Amino acid sequence: MERIYLDSASTTRTDDEVIEAMLPFLRENYGNPSSIHSFGKTAKVMMEDARDLIASVAGVSSKQLVFTSGGTESINNALKGIAYHYLGKEKDHIITSPVEHSAVLETTEYLRSKFGFRVTYLKPRQGGAIDPEEALSAVTDKTFLVSLMHANNETGGVTDIRSISEGASLRGVEMFTDTVQSFGKNILDLGSLRSSAAVISAHKIRGPKGIAALYARKGTPVEKFIHGGKQERDLRGGTENIAAIAGFAKAVELAAKRFEEDTARWRALRTMLMLELETAFGDAVIFNSPAEKDQSLPNILNFCFDKGKAVYDEEMLIIMLDLRGIAVSGGSACTSGSHKPSHVLIALGVDERTALGAIRVSFGRENTAKDVAGLVDALKDIVKLR
Ligand code: PLP
Repeated sequence: MERIYLDSASTTRTDDEVIEAMLPFLRENYGNPSSIHSFGKTAKVMMEDARDLIASVAGVSSKQLVFTSGGTESINNALKGIAYHYLGKEKDHIITSPVEHSAVLETTEYLRSKFGFRVTYLKPRQGGAIDPEEALSAVTDKTFLVSLMHANNETGGVTDIRSISEGASLRGVEMFTDTVQSFGKNILDLGSLRSSAAVISAHKIRGPKGIAALYARKGTPVEKFIHGGKQERDLRGGTENIAAIAGFAKAVELAAKRFEEDTARWRALRTMLMLELETAFGDAVIFNSPAEKDQSLPNILNFCFDKGKAVYDEEMLIIMLDLRGIAVSGGSACTSGSHKPSHVLIALGVDERTALGAIRVSFGRENTAKDVAGLVDALKDIVKLR
């Protein structure tokens, strides 16, 4: 059976060129970057070249990039670092939204319950973006941090971060931006967002898993987050994962080189999928992603079916597609065996049963029109109009 992978927002296939770039740092150049001999120096030079390359693509300074183990770790470190700086000071208020990734939601909840910070959740617009005016009008003289994602991982909805960061900065408020999904999809130049801190996760752009970067602009209060050695400008102790860093840099280089081509192809596939779904299911299909192209990532489309107009088993939809060799994400967060509907779709006002049957398609470099046709054909088998 031919398998179709339509879940690149979860993770991507590691690019062959990335694997090639990593191998020398596993086979021959396996030195520890902190060692002073030639093995160590080779690793160190590669690591700093990798940092420079990533920084130049992201439009930030290399000195402001710290390698971490993933987007989740970067988010934890940024939010906790900023919050700890404000502990015991007058400002105690954080603004975020209910559609953030759990890495942000759980960290802000931890900061609230453990240290007493106050958290405001902004209401998202249809499609998951946050209105800049609403974000800035929630800022008070007690606010020290606004944490909002650039693009939503479930719907692809894009928030106008630049307006919010500029407004936050004028009010003396730090702005953290989760750019895990947007980097390489609708933006490369993270510096242009004007946020205090942002993040790149390699496995979302055909790099290896377990490696990412935290960008913290000069003056952003990020403190040492892993105690041990003096690595990563004394912020994160521990021997660096040099093979992963080499792969990360290659993935960023390729994402930049292929940006125009990839994003144009994804946009075309996304439009094709929307049209084919509308042709097959008419108004029984409901799109949870923003309708306007410029308000959505080019590679993500989230949709569900109107229970009044279509017959399907919402708990089985993803499994039935999987049995046909098609991998997509669903509208449930499977935590400890319980099927809970996605917190993002619930925040967008989708009812629980419909949300459980939601489908998130996210395109990667390999996908073609044939994959779109394969998915729609499978859905025609599984979902019946009333
Ligand atoms: N933020 C967003 C928006 C994501 O989509 C993800 C991963 O799905 C993360 C953060 C976490 O990134 P990582 O998997 O690198 O820890």
